[in-house]
Amino acid sequence: MIIIIATTNVKKRAELEALLGSDYEVHGLESIEKPPEVEENADTFVGNASLKALAISQLTPHLVIADDSGLCVDALDGAPGIYSARYANESQNGVVKSATDETNNEKLLRELSDVTQHPKQRGAHFVCALVIAQQGEVLASFEGKVEGHIAEELSGQAGFGYDPLFVPHGYEKSFADLGSDIKQKISHRAHALSQLKNWLVDK
Ligand code: IMP
Repeated sequence: MIIIIATTNVKKRAELEALLGSDYEVHGLESIEKPPEVEENADTFVGNASLKALAISQLTPHLVIADDSGLCVDALDGAPGIYSARYANESQNGVVKSATDETNNEKLLRELSDVTQHPKQRGAHFVCALVIAQQGEVLASFEGKVEGHIAEELSGQAGFGYDPLFVPHGYEKSFADLGSDIKQKISHRAHALSQLKNWLVDK
């Protein structure tokens, strides 16, 4: 079975591809001629994942999976949430300077600088919404979550995004320190994808 992963984020794609395993032939957006840039203007993770999956599913007969994910921090009332990728975007004279993983992590540490070091005060969770669509129709959606806290400083090289700051419950190191073997077992993406795989088997 051929599956198209509708993301331009190579690290997200690599995680999804590894989690799907060898039972599926996985392709990325390079297999789609002129993939559109999708404006993520829904107000939920599932809504944004649906926009991405639907747009690409109109351009191929194959199943399409889109992932919309982000970090929700308790002390920031759930921010950055659906805005995780663009958290540190800056607008100067109408020109948007796009956030990077580095500027996003710097902003998060700045925003939490007044919040005590205690992990309980720095609670956070990652959410991953996965939507599977085919030929302009959403077939199913799944959500996975992992709880943890935000460390006081960056640590580790693995992963992407907020991984150097996110310490999952039950561990004392960040996802970026723990590495992909552990992240791939307990992450928000792993939880959402295992539901999607069950759905694919039953399909
Ligand atoms: P999206 O591409 O709009 O779904 O944005 C996802 C953003 O959420 C990424 O750019 C990261 O900042 C953050 N994010 C999502 N999943 C992860 C993860 O597994 N580790 C670290 N950051 C993540």
